[in-house]
Amino acid sequence: VVPTSPPRRSPNILVTGTPGTGKTTTAEMIALAVGLEMVTVGDLIKERGLHDGYNEEFDTYWLNEDKVVDEMESMMAHGGMCIDFHTCGLFPERWFDLVVVLRAGTDKIYDRLEGRGYKPNKVQENVECEIMQVVLDEARESYKAEVIMELESNTVDDMEANVEKVAAFVNQFKKAHEQ
Ligand code: ADP
Ligand code: MN
Repeated sequence: VVPTSPPRRSPNILVTGTPGTGKTTTAEMIALAVGLEMVTVGDLIKERGLHDGYNEEFDTYWLNEDKVVDEMESMMAHGGMCIDFHTCGLFPERWFDLVVVLRAGTDKIYDRLEGRGYKPNKVQENVECEIMQVVLDEARESYKAEVIMELESNTVDDMEANVEKVAAFVNQFKKAHEQ
């Protein structure tokens, strides 16, 4: 028998999706519910300078994928991580046991990003990104269908249901990978 599961007791989870879909909020709730360590990759990039400078036009940092992956490798090695980032193709496939792709209506994305004070061009770009399901397509290109969980995140009820679903996955994973 060829072992197919990575040798970790607790899963690594990626929560991805267009900005404004609710990644950070959902990932925090998941981490709290089942005792995973949460890392918001965008914050890590800023704190540790894992970028190639600032992009004025879009109020964002130029992503340096190699720096990000090198920095994160050791923290992903032992499992138990819940990672949140708006793009997913840069990470090694082997890192994740579950890839959650959050989806939201364009009206929700618009309101949430405008409420966060994003410039109109940045709001527009992200609304289009969600309409074109850019992140979902990227997830499908980068990870096996079996590990991808696409979830609606329009309402607080959605969010609670999503946290429950992921918590159930984590508990099942831990049971299956017990000694
Ligand atoms: P992201 O990290 O994907 O950019 P956030 O978690 O920061 O998204 O959420 C953006 C805003 O939308 C926050 O104010 C959050 O409370 C709200 N929000 C996120 N998901 C939902 C949801 N499913 N229902 C209602 N509000 C939500
Ligand atoms: Mn976020």
